[in-house]
Amino acid sequence: MATKLVLLGTAGGPLPVAGRLGTASAVVVDGRVFVVDCGRGAPSAFADAGLDFSHLDAVFVTHLHADHTGDLPGMLLYGWGVRADGDTALPPIRVYGPTQPQMLPSDAGGFARQTIICPQRPAPGTADLVGHILAGYAYHLNVMPLDARMPDAGALARAVDIAVTPHTTDAATIPVLVCEDASVRVTAVAVSHGHATPALAYRFDTADGSVAFSGDTTVNDNLISLATGADILVHQVADLDYLAGHGLSAADLEHMAGLHTDVTQVGAVAERAQVGELILHHYLPAEPGAITEADWARRAGQGFSGITTAGRDGLRRALRSATGLTGRSMSAARDAHEDRGSLPEQVLPRSCCRLDPRTVPPRASAAMAFRAAPNNSLATDSDDGPGRHHTRAADRRCRGPRPIMALGTRIRGRRHRRPGDVRTACMRE
Ligand SMILES: [Zn+2]
Repeated sequence: MATKLVLLGTAGGPLPVAGRLGTASAVVVDGRVFVVDCGRGAPSAFADAGLDFSHLDAVFVTHLHADHTGDLPGMLLYGWGVRADGDTALPPIRVYGPTQPQMLPSDAGGFARQTIICPQRPAPGTADLVGHILAGYAYHLNVMPLDARMPDAGALARAVDIAVTPHTTDAATIPVLVCEDASVRVTAVAVSHGHATPALAYRFDTADGSVAFSGDTTVNDNLISLATGADILVHQVADLDYLAGHGLSAADLEHMAGLHTDVTQVGAVAERAQVGELILHHYLPAEPGAITEADWARRAGQGFSGITTAGRDGLRRALRSATGLTGRSMSAARDAHEDRGSLPEQVLPRSCCRLDPRTVPPRASAAMAFRAAPNNSLATDSDDGPGRHHTRAADRRCRGPRPIMALGTRIRGRRHRRPGDVRTACMRE
């Protein structure tokens, strides 16, 4: 078993800057690659990191701003040609992300918009986004197979909308189980990012340890709860003082404070979550020359007793925790699910609860028809030291978005959750 974290890009915000790519990260579990966000340059950074598009298993989108999704088309399309095992297409790349909000967020309390783009569907969710990417590139997908040996385009991607209870200031939100298999379990919770609702944070648990990703958020109790005891917390960071000194108006600054966690706050977040290492990314300002890595780490680490690292594009961490999910606990967790009755392969994206096939819309039914994957998890990673070669065939059936049941009893990081953190509710959108 081997798990590693790779930061593919660490710049915050949509505007490209020289010398730093947009927000994207990868968690590699036994050679299978799970990407979190697809900001500017993510596919190239993926290749630069030595990752293999035929091993891309799933993409997890924290929210639907362009600086987190802009290069999702490339992440899906550029590696299409290698996603085959002989003449058989590999299983689809799963794309998980926020569902569409109930309605277009109001512009109250923010800046005003003018034109509403696509008024018939003004706030599409992740499944809509992926569907439109495929539709927009239909020419490529329909015509290129006539001139090159390409896998079935119909097997390229499957999107899953994650239904979470939106963040509110007066109530904690229960994490949902996004997917799990024999090697990795991914959970998510709603965080607070201005009008970008829902916005998500993710946590990955494997036998080697755990990594949590804040997404874009203000200081958020849901995130702290989700990340508690993780080996690594990858957290966005902004320096509002710097922005105030470089042209941001008072009104802009006030609004920015309602979107992001400031560098003076993030150390306390990591301390409350009792994580082992805080790794900074999604820098605002994004320009590498604006603030040195040493300054970012020094200021962010105040109030945090663990390790603080200023992330950079290409940074790697191998997880070697002795307290990650053991094979036994992974099996136990799986058995616990199966004791309650196995989920069908199809799950309803916008509900965590048991599927009633009569209620599955055609798109969801098609989207959830995952197939078992071949054993493509052979990985060699010289950065993680010698002897870390793995050939494990994992059970890759994904069990879709579900509520966390007795989370504290099943997720084990560096430090265990407190009994009071155990939650047993079932969520609906
Ligand atoms: Zn962002």
